[in-house]
Amino acid sequence: MNEEEFLLTAATNCSKTDIILNRRKLSSDEEVNYRIMKYRRSKGEPLQYAAGFTEFLGCKIFVDERVLIPRPETEIMVEKIIEQIKQNNISEVNILDVGTGSGNIAIALAKNIKNAEITAIDKSKDSIDLAKYNSEYNLVNDRIKFINVSFENYVVQNNPLKFDIIVSNPPYIPENDLNNLPDDVKREPFGALNGGKNGVEIIEKIIINSSKMLKENGMIFLEIGDNQNDLAEEIIKNTNAYKNIRFFLDYVGTRRIVSAEVR
Ligand code: GLN
Repeated sequence: MNEEEFLLTAATNCSKTDIILNRRKLSSDEEVNYRIMKYRRSKGEPLQYAAGFTEFLGCKIFVDERVLIPRPETEIMVEKIIEQIKQNNISEVNILDVGTGSGNIAIALAKNIKNAEITAIDKSKDSIDLAKYNSEYNLVNDRIKFINVSFENYVVQNNPLKFDIIVSNPPYIPENDLNNLPDDVKREPFGALNGGKNGVEIIEKIIINSSKMLKENGMIFLEIGDNQNDLAEEIIKNTNAYKNIRFFLDYVGTRRIVSAEVR
């Protein structure tokens, strides 16, 4: 689907096939929607913000400038988690999603794993509001507990809580690269992108603290930036808390997802 077609489906709430088959004129409301979307796009807003939503593993996820736009490589991470859980065959799976943003990861997991109980946290109140809305839209709100808290505070407050899986697509852009991002990426929330020095500051925090919050055989799954695989591996090894470090590739063959099992 090209950009034009995507905006048409968004403005009319129809599938691409409906649009092609019906070949109908847009109603006046749809015409207005479409023009507004085109205008916002022409002003440099990301396509998904202009349309108001994106697709993530078959779930419709509403997005705006309060949250990061879910990316295809994150879908790969969620698919790997689903595979892993099906393989382990556990009766109830407790999952923590750190920095849930639009709620995409938590929602896709809840949709695909019927026995999953998910806790999704984010330090941004705006993100939690939108993520809750998305979970209701996707009919999985009963299995996701959303909490507006930073990871640091969550770790302190919830020491005894243990998870089978901790997943995160954390901010991982090195702070020195933030100025060179494409213009439309600059429209996304700074807090969702900024990974501090080397880009791995938050990744490191999550790796170090998660080992205490995982059940026996529990696993972490993290998305990482381009060329951060060696750093991530080093951080994981230095904790002495994990085994079975694995990397998964994104669509261009780069190691962009790391998983490890707690010892
Ligand atoms: N969990 C969300 C996503 O994967 C948001 C991540 C973030 O804000 N860094 O898209």
